[in-house]
Amino acid sequence: MNDIKPRIFIFGLDGGTWKILKPLMEEGFLPNLANLVQSGTSGILKSTIPPVTAPAWSSFQTGVNPGKHGLYDFIGYKQGSYDWHLTNAKDLKIKTIWRIASDRGKTVVTINVPMTYPPEPINGAVIGGVMSPSTDSKFTYPHDLYKELVENIDDYIIYSEPRILFTDNLEKAIDRLIYIEEKRIDAAEYLMKKYNWDLFMVHNQSLDQIQHILWPYINKSHSYFSEEKWSIISKFYKSIDESIGKIISELDDSTTIIVMSDHGFGNLEKVIHLNRWLQLEGYQKLTNVGKVGVIEKILKKLDIFKLRKKFRFNLIDSARVKLNQNYAINWSETKAFMGTGQIYGHIHLNAKGREKMGIISPEEYENFRDEIKEKLLNFKDPFSKTPVVEKVYKREEIYQGSETINAPDLIVKPVAGYAFTKRLNESKPVSICKIKNDFLGTHAEDGIIVFSGKPIKSSKQIQEVNMVDIMPTILHLMGMDLPDYLDGNILKDILIN
Ligand SMILES: [Zn+2]
Repeated sequence: MNDIKPRIFIFGLDGGTWKILKPLMEEGFLPNLANLVQSGTSGILKSTIPPVTAPAWSSFQTGVNPGKHGLYDFIGYKQGSYDWHLTNAKDLKIKTIWRIASDRGKTVVTINVPMTYPPEPINGAVIGGVMSPSTDSKFTYPHDLYKELVENIDDYIIYSEPRILFTDNLEKAIDRLIYIEEKRIDAAEYLMKKYNWDLFMVHNQSLDQIQHILWPYINKSHSYFSEEKWSIISKFYKSIDESIGKIISELDDSTTIIVMSDHGFGNLEKVIHLNRWLQLEGYQKLTNVGKVGVIEKILKKLDIFKLRKKFRFNLIDSARVKLNQNYAINWSETKAFMGTGQIYGHIHLNAKGREKMGIISPEEYENFRDEIKEKLLNFKDPFSKTPVVEKVYKREEIYQGSETINAPDLIVKPVAGYAFTKRLNESKPVSICKIKNDFLGTHAEDGIIVFSGKPIKSSKQIQEVNMVDIMPTILHLMGMDLPDYLDGNILKDILIN
């Protein structure tokens, strides 16, 4: 390839955080990432609100806030429907950067980027990421690409078994995740050779999984930290760095490299069951509670993962979502519910004239929203007697655009150390996470961003970068005009000229 063209290569690190990566770079443990930081511009990348993979990567791909692209969570809710569905790329109301670049004649390859399933036909190749049902589904474009990959690199896995890290054999589980992500890099190397690409992204999803479950052993200031466990887990971080080095050695100097996360990470000590809290406050009534509990138990016993493998997990999870919400809530006596969301609380009001059996009149709506907001800000942890809610946003305060109508009426940010769940059938509103079975790490808003390449300033720190700024900056670096509806800005501070 002799043509000089500005190319972009993006490494996605799901849940990447400087809290962990910075000290590792300083120890010399991640030399390739450290080199990129040294030769380029880096800083904190602010996630979306909520800082969740589905909306965050969607804002990255579209350059707009969720109020425009319409994706707030892995579960979508259409106002007025009492019906929930698992979200995917079809829910996006705004063109992705891949579509735009492809339409302008660029060649694009994306591997494992969340919310790219079902894959769009583009000039190049797509391997779907999170929310792709299985390797039996049409999760690639072109559709026979999976077969071609297996023929050329032996194996390709979308993601690992969900509970693989709840194990006594940590070494085996970590080795498996290293293998899965190394195979992904093999796929990247294969497609880098196959296509004369302009824009390329490969995404590491396992990092998020590892940090959710093993956070205490990764975060050296955690009281459960264990050198022995870290010595095993650290191999995974090492392998990420080696993969970055491997890819960089194959890039020419017309390529700008970006390393980015969708959100950061932090400690998780307790979870808040928002629906239980709403029930205790008298805002929500359940029905069929016993039956729902029984069906839930049966589903659990049947081993969700094997079912998922067989029937494609989307169908199973969709059924669970519908069962939980639709069947279990007594709508005529419910004022508020959390039907979507995770980590941050999502409160949907059962508004009259909007929801089928809505009971909050338009005149009451605003006062009621204020009442819940006030109560949440005063909601204390029953164990420590300290507040559990840091902020409550009204949807119009953080989202702008025609899709805001399907957003939760209130979005609740927990205090660090807490996360929200939407479980209905809990006895207490707050429970303590247990080391054997629960997540001990949760998402935070501060993620990572690194740019390195010829047009980029070296050894520079940048402040205040938002998810929506990355897409316009990439279009600019590739010499393309920006669509006029974007919410983000070109990061001019990072550019030499
Ligand atoms: Zn996560």
